[in-house]
Amino acid sequence: MQQRNLSVRGLSSNGHIRGLACVTTQLVNVLQLRHGTSPVASAALGRTASIAAMMALLLKDEERLTVQIHGNGPLGNIVVDADSQGNVRGYVDNPDVQLPSNRHGKLDVGRAVGSGLLYVTRDMGLNNVYRGSCELQTGEIGDDLTHYFTVSEQIPSAVGAGVLVNTDGSILAAGGFIVQLLPGYVEDEVSVLEDRVKGLPNVTELLRNNMDAQGLLQQLIPDVVVLDTRAVSFACTCSRERMSEVLHSLGRQELEKLVADQLGAEIRCHFCNQKYVFTQSELARMVEYERIE
Ligand SMILES: [Zn+2]
Repeated sequence: MQQRNLSVRGLSSNGHIRGLACVTTQLVNVLQLRHGTSPVASAALGRTASIAAMMALLLKDEERLTVQIHGNGPLGNIVVDADSQGNVRGYVDNPDVQLPSNRHGKLDVGRAVGSGLLYVTRDMGLNNVYRGSCELQTGEIGDDLTHYFTVSEQIPSAVGAGVLVNTDGSILAAGGFIVQLLPGYVEDEVSVLEDRVKGLPNVTELLRNNMDAQGLLQQLIPDVVVLDTRAVSFACTCSRERMSEVLHSLGRQELEKLVADQLGAEIRCHFCNQKYVFTQSELARMVEYERIE
């Protein structure tokens, strides 16, 4: 039986350690199918999506967040969007990158991502946007987000995410965790938590052995009190209406050129790869509308 795609949030019984964990195997499978990602691209995008899905559990109702990885490696940019309801979408600029394994025999995500910057944008609505950033550390995504929380948000944290890819390119297991020390923690708790993180078997191995998100969290915080559980799934907010707004934003001159070309227009949503086709007569109507405006 396949584990449900869930993210969970909990606290140690004394309230000093916050933990998040998730299983995202189906979500990363959908991303793989939508974008046709290569194994290394699935791993990079899937790790980012898993971490974003957990971070979204810390959002309030109408908020959403975007994690952007701007590396100089062959994958280009990775962008993942998540909202407080567990909806996640994302893409990578170059989904078909192939690279030899790294020296540990693993997918070389670090090399595929390269060096650069990481951005986290939290949109709280009403033009209230918070943006934090940090330099990428290894490009392995988990390390980079660990650094982000510690430096940019000043919360001592450990972040891990893993994606196990089958020989046919499908996703066998995906998920991750975030543990954070909250104000009031004592020094002893730091080393105990560090030891638990270091001693944790590979996340994807645990998930393959049918561990669920809560079980994963208990490995890191044995006395965890679960506060919140949310289903995680792929969903895109694009629509034909939004895409026609994109065309309108080109302006009348550009629209007139498109009509003159007589080829119609095709726009693809970056996030879900959905194709929207606009015929020549639809474009002509848009020009009319621009004239009236
Ligand atoms: Zn879309």
